[in-house]
Amino acid sequence: MVDVSRRKSVALFIALGGGLISVIFLLYVGWVLFQWRSGWLLALGLLLLLTLIGGVIVNTFFLVREIRRNEQQDAFINAVTHELKTPVASIRLYLQTLQTRAIDEDKRKDFYGVMLADSDRLLETIEQVLRTGRIGSRSRRPNFVPIDLNGVVEECVDRTRALYHIAADALFFRAGPEVTIRADADEVRAALSNLIDNAVKYSGNDVRVTVETAPVNGNYVAVRVRDRGAGIPRTELKQIFKRFHRVPGTGGTRIPGTGLGLFIVRSVAKRHGGRAWAESEGVGRGSTFVLQLPIAR
Ligand code: ADP
Repeated sequence: MVDVSRRKSVALFIALGGGLISVIFLLYVGWVLFQWRSGWLLALGLLLLLTLIGGVIVNTFFLVREIRRNEQQDAFINAVTHELKTPVASIRLYLQTLQTRAIDEDKRKDFYGVMLADSDRLLETIEQVLRTGRIGSRSRRPNFVPIDLNGVVEECVDRTRALYHIAADALFFRAGPEVTIRADADEVRAALSNLIDNAVKYSGNDVRVTVETAPVNGNYVAVRVRDRGAGIPRTELKQIFKRFHRVPGTGGTRIPGTGLGLFIVRSVAKRHGGRAWAESEGVGRGSTFVLQLPIAR
């Protein structure tokens, strides 16, 4: 409903912009008919015409951009609210059950396990939102120290395996030659974890993820995270790195998430003098994400 009314406002502003430009143009044609003999008045009219048309185009562009931004922020608030509410509601339900019923020891242990997993999910969402704020603020500079990249990747792979209960051959790490980067360990860990978690999250039940590191041109090292999951439409390959953006229709909006992970990945890559991008043959054909960082000299 909200979406339809937003689309209508975008169409309305574009139509209004187009209408205004036509009126201005018609006025100019009238001006030319009246003033065709006087050269400088014609030139003045042309200047005014170009200024007015430019103003209307810029105005329409900014209005449409603001509407789109609002739309993304609404989607983000909905996703975050959902991500915050769901684990809290689940923890509450388990606590109520524990409080009101006699539960045997084994069940009780299961309940504690689920509550711990829910609180981890809650913490992860909060941390993701806070990290986006930190990375976005220019005043907080990264804390660069020498890091053994393979060691950090291994750590992140182990973390994801434990979090999603995945066997080592379903999430496989092929380490390239040992390489040291100068980086903020916390930021690089966050970026890698986002990529590896996504590869698992968007693979559904058939998790076959490979993570590998390899030097590029002697100056950079690339971490490639390849999955055989949901895949990404070609038109979305750049969009997904924008803040709050989630691919509509495919796995993206059905699987829990906030649309912040890849924004963090790209911001971390930029802050470290590297870059990040996605490759995919299309929907249902898996994806590969690459994080490329400079090697320490
Ligand atoms: P989130 O996963 O919380 O939605 P991200 O910023 O990590 O946010 O990802 C943005 C979108 O990119 C996701 O919603 C999803 O549509 C798409 N995406 C990310 N990683 C993958 C992947 N490995 N396979 C398919 N789609 C992906």
